[in-house]
Amino acid sequence: MMRKKNYFAGPSVLPIEVLEEMRDNIVDYEGNGLSIIEASHRGGMFEEMYDSCLSTFRELLNIPEDYDVYFLGGGATLQFTMIPTNFLVKGKVADYAKTGTWSNKACSDAQKLGDVNVFFDNKAENYTTLPDPKSVKPSDNSAYLYLCANETIGGIEWKDFPDTGDVPLIADMSSDILSRPVDVKKFGMIYGGVQKNLGPAGATFIIMRKDMLERRNPNLTAYMDYALHAKEKGLYNTPPVFSIWGVKLVLEWIKRNGGVEGMDKNADLKSGLIYSVIDSSDFWRSPVDKRYRSRMNIVFRLPSEELEAKFVKEASAEGMLGLKGHRSVGGLRASLYNALPYEDVVALKDFMKEFERKNG
Ligand SMILES: *Cc1c(COP(=O)(O)O)cnc(C)c1O
Repeated sequence: MMRKKNYFAGPSVLPIEVLEEMRDNIVDYEGNGLSIIEASHRGGMFEEMYDSCLSTFRELLNIPEDYDVYFLGGGATLQFTMIPTNFLVKGKVADYAKTGTWSNKACSDAQKLGDVNVFFDNKAENYTTLPDPKSVKPSDNSAYLYLCANETIGGIEWKDFPDTGDVPLIADMSSDILSRPVDVKKFGMIYGGVQKNLGPAGATFIIMRKDMLERRNPNLTAYMDYALHAKEKGLYNTPPVFSIWGVKLVLEWIKRNGGVEGMDKNADLKSGLIYSVIDSSDFWRSPVDKRYRSRMNIVFRLPSEELEAKFVKEASAEGMLGLKGHRSVGGLRASLYNALPYEDVVALKDFMKEFERKNG
């Protein structure tokens, strides 16, 4: 098979070793005589696989003991509702940074459920910069302070996080989880969909400090209640089995490839290749404040929309997929997630150089 070069933003590239491992085990899971996707999620081979997945996750991200870790369904999007439903209790206010599509959606859901203070909104500049984390302070009666660590569509990423003291910091890390070390202790909650950097779509990871549960609204329906999910380790109802299996294999692949430090180094190298082309001439333009450029999702522009369309078309003819910017922002975007091989980034860099030579 001629494997395509995959710069899609999500679902996105998986390590070829993981796909092959899934292929080899999809019918007969590790010699058990049935597939893991046809077995009960209660006990037996699923729980063994799940426990191993959770412990590798803990190990890679160095998650302290006083945090729960589990997976839910519903995507990162369900968390936009679950977070305020649990923590935005009466008399409190939630602090939100509006930094692009994903934090805006989270904020707008919270506004339907309670009092929200928007402490940063960069709409006027099209969400191309972030606040200095040192300048960020939660409101007096803040329930939590919320941000999106990496805006997948705008290509902008927090490099450091605010110190929020006793107020829980909550972050959506859907698209940069395990691309860099994170001091989990700074956060009350970290969550995200797995389909960008961790595995096949379906599961959402939840990392939550246990004492967060004491702050929650006690009057919740079953699925909305984090305390129930924490108690059941995410197995209150049927988990997204296939997705979690893929995540387990991706986590093991990360472990074999230098862990989170290895991913961090690669992200610097890979994104550096593309940003150096973008910065090398006026043919290319990055709309994002240099200090906050994402290493996972590189958003860039060409002198005209016609050239951008040509770029996407010619790249696609070369087997390079997913380079069109999100329909809401236009332009071009290359997603360089953990699983994207270094060679595929070199290929993109070479293609860009050649495109510039012919059209610049
Ligand atoms: C993709 C994405 C989401 C939405 O994820 P779903 O799993 O589709 O709900 C939320 N936040 C960020 C940062 C994303 O990249």
